Amino acid sequence: MNFHSMSADRLRDTQADLKKRYDDLKALGLRLDLTRGKPAPEQLDLSNALLSLPGEDYRDGTGTDTRNYGGLKGLPELRAIFGELLAVDPENLIAFGNSSLELMHDLTVFGLLHGTPDSDEPWGRQKIKFLCPVPGYDRHFAITESFGIEMIPVPMLPDGPDVRLCAELTAGDPSIKGMWAVPTYSNPTGVTFSEEVTRGLLEMPAAPDFRIYWDNAYAVHTLVDAPPTPLPVIEMAAQAGHPNRVYVLGSTSKITFAGGGVAFFGSSPENVAWFSKYLGFKTIGPDKVNQLRHLRFFGDADGVRAHMARHREIIEPKFKIVLDILEDRLAESKVASWSEPEGGYFISLDVIDGAARRTIELAKEAGIALTAAGSAFPYKVDPHDRNIRLAPTFPNTDDLRAAMDGVSTCVLLASAETLLAQQS
Ligand code: PMP
Repeated sequence: MNFHSMSADRLRDTQADLKKRYDDLKALGLRLDLTRGKPAPEQLDLSNALLSLPGEDYRDGTGTDTRNYGGLKGLPELRAIFGELLAVDPENLIAFGNSSLELMHDLTVFGLLHGTPDSDEPWGRQKIKFLCPVPGYDRHFAITESFGIEMIPVPMLPDGPDVRLCAELTAGDPSIKGMWAVPTYSNPTGVTFSEEVTRGLLEMPAAPDFRIYWDNAYAVHTLVDAPPTPLPVIEMAAQAGHPNRVYVLGSTSKITFAGGGVAFFGSSPENVAWFSKYLGFKTIGPDKVNQLRHLRFFGDADGVRAHMARHREIIEPKFKIVLDILEDRLAESKVASWSEPEGGYFISLDVIDGAARRTIELAKEAGIALTAAGSAFPYKVDPHDRNIRLAPTFPNTDDLRAAMDGVSTCVLLASAETLLAQQS
């Protein structure tokens, strides 16, 4: 029954019943974890062939001996594959390291220390700000917070960030130098930016050294047959008169091995030259042997797509379990709503205002770890205390069922408590 239409007495009885159910849950002594979007071991197994690649054949198609130093931009054939998947000209795409987050960190550090090609002075000499679509990715916000960059939340709408608000803010404030963005199957909402919103972000008036971190981490992580086509944002930005506005990022972390993949950075020729210059002080070159084994493993872009279809077979049933349990346990009470993503790694659960922190606390006491309250917001402050990020991929299906049934009980109990507190 709808909790909002219950009398106080009825709600109190319901709360008492839920408390019993919660005590039974606690008695199970569960130890379950829904916190991080990690691939499950069976997903990692899909890429085990990498462990014996590239074998003795260590030269790429251009004859480069991958064992040696050099080749700062990475192997051209691998860049061609991911250029196609990320809609970036391979000439302007670097394959580097195993973590796109590291590249985003470096891009920020280089901006702070040296300024971008369009900056009058290094970002670090000014008090700068970043726009942060919310709910968003906690590790993005952690980077900006660690450097004391002020974060301005902007709401995420069903077709992308509120672009009118973004434009209003950037037009009036040249100290806004950056924006976090996950354009496909966003973390955690699952939202994919529409072409219209994308165009708006690329066209809007902003400081000349304003940069959008276009983190296309989930470009190929689809749960449907017809995934969105990535937009050629670097070309679109140039057409909009802001050729240096976007930094495209991606990686194979959730394609092959989360800790042993390859990361990518693409941008305008000017930005790529700028980044390569400073990258060249850090290292003589990336791990090309790892890049070669990825190249041999995939073959081409279709090889990546076929591989992602195998991931889908493993994770789609897990998303279904979560969605079915949420529907079954929570729909009637009208105390929660949730995303039904077509890809990516997360389900975003919104409970009634003021009940998220309590839900997470109850779950923790019952042995179910959920991402900390407020994680998806700058400074970890969820102004409505309502968002909970669920990560269904890592647990096995039995654990996932048990965890989601438990979470549902916690949501209901926390909601009943919150509504009763509001009534009294
Ligand atoms: N971006 C987003 C949006 C993510 O969700 C993640 C992983 N959770 C990353 C980046 C991390 O990528 P990488 O392993 O390449 O550093």
